[in-house]
Amino acid sequence: MKFENSLAFAKKLDRQDPLKTFRKKFLIPKHNGKPVIYFTGNSLGLQPITTKKFINEELQDWATQGVEGHLQSKRPWLYYHKFFKKPLAKLVGAKPIEVTAMNQLTVNLHLMMVSFYQPTSQRFKLIVERGAFSSDQYAFESQVRYHGLNPNDAIIELTPRPGEYTLRTEDIVQTIAEHTNRLALVVLGGVQYYTGQFFNIRQLTEAAHRAGAYAGFDLAHAIGNVPLSLHDDHVDFAVWCSYKYLNSGPGGVAGTFVHERHATNFSLPRFAGWWGHHEAERFKMRKGFKPMPGVDGWQLSNFPVLSGAPQLASLEIFQQAGIKRLRKKSLLLTGYLEFLLQQLDPSQNQFVIITPSNPDERGCQLSILMKKSGRKVFDKLVASGISADWREPDVIRVAPVPLYNSFEEVFMFAQHLGQAMGI
Ligand SMILES: *Cc1c(COP(=O)(O)O)cnc(C)c1O
Repeated sequence: MKFENSLAFAKKLDRQDPLKTFRKKFLIPKHNGKPVIYFTGNSLGLQPITTKKFINEELQDWATQGVEGHLQSKRPWLYYHKFFKKPLAKLVGAKPIEVTAMNQLTVNLHLMMVSFYQPTSQRFKLIVERGAFSSDQYAFESQVRYHGLNPNDAIIELTPRPGEYTLRTEDIVQTIAEHTNRLALVVLGGVQYYTGQFFNIRQLTEAAHRAGAYAGFDLAHAIGNVPLSLHDDHVDFAVWCSYKYLNSGPGGVAGTFVHERHATNFSLPRFAGWWGHHEAERFKMRKGFKPMPGVDGWQLSNFPVLSGAPQLASLEIFQQAGIKRLRKKSLLLTGYLEFLLQQLDPSQNQFVIITPSNPDERGCQLSILMKKSGRKVFDKLVASGISADWREPDVIRVAPVPLYNSFEEVFMFAQHLGQAMGI
């Protein structure tokens, strides 16, 4: 599409947007009485209007039924995780047996590494991104130490080429190949949280498998943002949180994918809890853990219903919108943002966009590396009613979210950014 730098054009795109009514399903925070331009859905997604209803239904059933609610509430708490399977499977391109909602992201990453990082004296290397999200780095280090290894020996960090900001697929594939006989596991983001780079999950998984290693992905910034096909891509495991693009509220219950081919591999080591035990026998309370087939066999505890209810509200909206339609809008919305930013500073005196310019290699987020007084510019943006995100040392991350952001907001953001930079 040929973009134009005008408010009228932005408004025209909004009128033509088949998903424009979805914005009304969300509560938008205000600044001086006006809706904030909320570009931080990559950090904490907005609250659907239906969230309260979903939580209240559980509170009501708890109030009137007490413990009977485990079996008799509208959505029986005993089987609560099952309500997530279909919509989550759709979002990540999986079979229901491969996905579940459980725990928190970092917990799930640890659980997956217990099963899929089994270093031997020969094969113990772990390939990750340099500058992975801190919690992931701490998980990697502590897992390696847990096996009595030194992170400096075991962890290989991928770095962009000099002068570049993101990783090239061919370079990752080559690094993986170089460690063929020593490599145990590759764990990468789906979409990198800092740069916004969307990795080629299929190619990287293939490369890991060729090297005799497992491949896992952290989808914190990918789920609900980009279409995924974890089953067909043969990914071994994936984990995600739900409070970013999945709009499940602060600390909402996270999720995990384990590929079907591991569903009945009960020889994989794992940390066990009663919710992973065979459902029919769970309440016999007997000795001897018998895991459920599929990812359910990795569950530990009974389901946190009150933190799960908001996610069901949001997943209902995702099912109505459809991830393919969302992606279609997202490509336009972020493409328009990129176009306007390039018009603002064509010679890149003020900033560079470090997110890949190829739309196939990014989600909705653009990461803007500020060359001059970035923090001041950022503070001015916030004061003008924009919610964006500052990452040290000098990056402003903006995520126009197709569910609730508009082309007009993208246009207004570029106006405000220009003013804040004095251009
Ligand atoms: C947001 C995010 C986390 C947060 O971890 P929690 O366990 O949910 O606190 C971890 N890793 C990545 C890549 C993230 O983007």
